[in-house]
Amino acid sequence: MTEGKGTQSNQYFPPKRKKHLTVDDYVQGVLNGDRAVIAQTITLVESNLTTHMETAQKVLKQLMPYTGKSIRIGFTGVPGAGKSTLIESFGLMLCEQDYRVAVLAVDPTSSVSKGSILGDKTRMEQLSRHQHAYVRPSPSSGTLGGVTRKSRETLLVCEAAGYDVIIVETVGVGQSEITVRSMVDFFLVIMLTGAGDELQGIKKGVMELADAIYINKADGVNKQAALNAKVEYNRLLHFLQPATEGWETKAYTVSAVTGEGVPHIWEVIKQYKDVTSKTGVFGKRRKQQMIDWVHSMIENQLKTRFYGNLIMKQRISEMEKLIVSGQASPTFAVQHLFSIYDQNR
Ligand code: GDP
Repeated sequence: MTEGKGTQSNQYFPPKRKKHLTVDDYVQGVLNGDRAVIAQTITLVESNLTTHMETAQKVLKQLMPYTGKSIRIGFTGVPGAGKSTLIESFGLMLCEQDYRVAVLAVDPTSSVSKGSILGDKTRMEQLSRHQHAYVRPSPSSGTLGGVTRKSRETLLVCEAAGYDVIIVETVGVGQSEITVRSMVDFFLVIMLTGAGDELQGIKKGVMELADAIYINKADGVNKQAALNAKVEYNRLLHFLQPATEGWETKAYTVSAVTGEGVPHIWEVIKQYKDVTSKTGVFGKRRKQQMIDWVHSMIENQLKTRFYGNLIMKQRISEMEKLIVSGQASPTFAVQHLFSIYDQNR
């Protein structure tokens, strides 16, 4: 027996989204890989509202046993280096191999200014549409503070949702690389050729964080220059302390546009996982990252309490005036402020 068109049973009614999810709704939705619930959970985790933070902690507590199984990869590079293009190409390749891939962004600008380097453009369109991928835009601007907490917790939500590869992207403009390095297993730095500035000190800092350097845009007329840069980087890397014990960081060339060299990235990462798991460095780093995370949260809380205390706000500004007029030394000021804080916390 067939049912005719237009009968009740043939019509599609999308399931109604609950406005207020319970802790169980969040947990079950994430564990079932429900993208809408994953997105809602991340929004919850990113919120600074006390009630949201409390619910988020309950959700995370239940999700924790399901985390830790992915490989976490950091990608960094200056604006225009080709991060989006390369992550899209790399991510699509992994999706085709049946891996589930999540891409998160740590945007150093979003908490400081209204603008966002990573979030403003439509990014990784093809990858976002792939059923095995989840691309999360950077936290919205104005979410002051706690960028690290939010990114780490977002990463855990994605892991609990069953993503095998978590890519954390950031712009190479300072502190954010160190933040991302502190939450990933493997850190990949994208470089460009040109301007003869390969050896400048500014790049040395980020090179010391890298487990691999990929010189992107190694195609067309730029290919030879990229190959030359690779030799130069490898020469320099020889003199630097490796970022990961027992692993030799090397430079390679890649083209996000032609795809040449993209499969190689995965080969290197697999080899890295293999080598560092055998030596125990992989697990050791993860444990250390958890401990470092606790300390960074303690520091944040202390700062928030100290600077957020109304009496302190007033006393700090009074002290500043005394210092600039030469009536108090900075050391005295700090000691004095802490004695006031101890009495008023
Ligand atoms: P991001 O700011 O680091 O995310 O860089 P994008 O991925 O937006 O890339 C910046 C520009 O470089 C875009 O116009 C890309 O099309 C281009 N681009 C990225 N990768 C390659 C590549 O491998 N070869 C070439 N020729 N262009 C590329």
